[in-house]
Amino acid sequence: MTLARAVFLDRDGVLIEDVHLIVDPAKVRVLPGVVDALTRLKSAGFKLVVVTNQTVVARGLATEADVAHLNRHMAGLLTMQGAPSLDAIHVCPHHPKASLPQYRQICECRKPAPGMLVRAARELGVALSRSYLVGDRLTDIAAGARAGCRTVLVETGRHVDAPIESAEPVDPSLRPDHVCRDLAAAADWILGDA
Ligand SMILES: [Mg+2]
Ligand SMILES: [Zn+2]
Repeated sequence: MTLARAVFLDRDGVLIEDVHLIVDPAKVRVLPGVVDALTRLKSAGFKLVVVTNQTVVARGLATEADVAHLNRHMAGLLTMQGAPSLDAIHVCPHHPKASLPQYRQICECRKPAPGMLVRAARELGVALSRSYLVGDRLTDIAAGARAGCRTVLVETGRHVDAPIESAEPVDPSLRPDHVCRDLAAAADWILGDA
């Protein structure tokens, strides 16, 4: 049996507008071109897997259930707009300096660690070396590269921000395999490359 391929998708700044520390589902805005991009990737046989760090949980601003609720709302908006269903959504609720002690840990899932990708690949039967990651921060790119995927940085805004806090610093010389404007352009590149 050949293993499937996946496109791992960061959530904030790739699928939806990056509203800092978003907790309110009413603030979810699907970015332009996302529905069409997801449709084309799924048609080409890629599993669609969201991998998102949610510091809001570690900071006590939302519960894991709140985040799951927002993610379901986002998935609902996407399908309502005609997108195919997402195959999985993985969330890291941890932070090395979390205000809530139960989330204060150096975990294997918080990007730049590759844990969410590795776990999703195992669960869905995905070959990481034939898969892609799309993110808007270097920490996303590091997670994708460490998992053995090809990586695409989308320049939707956050790519210029300082790196997020992580247990291990991201190598600043790390380069994505491709840089482009948004998920639509990322899908063009992935479909041409695959
Ligand atoms: Mg992001
Ligand atoms: Zn984690």
